[in-house]
Amino acid sequence: GATTPSPDEGFQEEEKKVAAKEAARPIQIVLANEEEHSFELDEAALENILLQDHVKDLNVVVVSVAGAFRKGKSFLLDFMLRYMHNPGESWMGGEDEPLSGFSWRGGCERETTGIQAWSEVFVVERSDGSKVAVLLVDTQGAFDSQSTIKDCATVFALSTMTSSVQVYNLTQNVQEDDLQHLQLFTEYGRLAMEEIYLKPFQSLMFLIRDWCYPYEHGYGLEGGNAFLKKRLQVKQNQHEELQNVRKHIHSCFSNIGCFLQPHPGLKVATNPYFDGRLRDIDDDFKTHLAELVPLLLAPDRLVEKEIGGNKVTCRDLVEYFKSYIKIYQG
Ligand code: GDP
Ligand code: MG
Repeated sequence: GATTPSPDEGFQEEEKKVAAKEAARPIQIVLANEEEHSFELDEAALENILLQDHVKDLNVVVVSVAGAFRKGKSFLLDFMLRYMHNPGESWMGGEDEPLSGFSWRGGCERETTGIQAWSEVFVVERSDGSKVAVLLVDTQGAFDSQSTIKDCATVFALSTMTSSVQVYNLTQNVQEDDLQHLQLFTEYGRLAMEEIYLKPFQSLMFLIRDWCYPYEHGYGLEGGNAFLKKRLQVKQNQHEELQNVRKHIHSCFSNIGCFLQPHPGLKVATNPYFDGRLRDIDDDFKTHLAELVPLLLAPDRLVEKEIGGNKVTCRDLVEYFKSYIKIYQG
């Protein structure tokens, strides 16, 4: 039968958790090789994260933020980390606390197309008593040439298939380009679906940063959803491809939303010495950040990852990553 850990082992387990928290950082799990246009999954790194004893058998929730470089993804993810560490009323932290986490810049951090995961997996207990494991993921790439767009699409498809919520981080508006990219991602995803006979996509949240038409569509989710509905309307004079992405996007995802986020203010956008402290961020931004983050991460809003209608544990997710990457390596 099961043996209860000795007090000593319990203590060691606790110590290990504390050490893991202190050493927590973003870990590159998928890397695009720009010269060869190939992809590599760091299986050992992924296993280190997902096969930790205290999470491996829990159902997993994967929240990913995807988009181009330098669009405030790390900034958002750092606030998501704050929420995960301290989900109370004052989760956003003190006025003068510098932000840390994904924006941490170690020597080896280059701007590479790929997927990074936060090394600490959060265990969250929901109001029904069930526990889930929450993995935070950062997916980024460059969209500046035909070949990088294709690499990006592959990486984004992979992260969309492996996440329960994909936050598509855009600035100012949803451009035709952004929809075209999305079409590419979904096409790549469909390729995978055909091979595995499963519907891979769950939730997609368009997040528009620096939204500057609040008088047309108000900040937040309601304004965002109204805006997106309009933006995704199919019109006769549109190119067929664009009509198609609009038609298909709803059939690809079980859930689609849009959130309009105000500009954070000039200190955030332009001051090279800005370190993330709340004091330097516009109030409007903070008000809506306080809405956005719990919308994605509040215990009872967490969406467990499902593949083919079945919930997936951290351990299962490792295997899905391995089989999905094979499709794109082939
Ligand atoms: P990432 O490359 O997408 O992860 O972007 P970062 O989070 O590293 O942010 C890039 C720069 O944009 C930093 O100087 C941030 O201070 C700034 N920034 C963060 N959020 C926003 C935002 O919502 N709007 C604007 N205009 N700048 C932002
Ligand atoms: Mg970043």
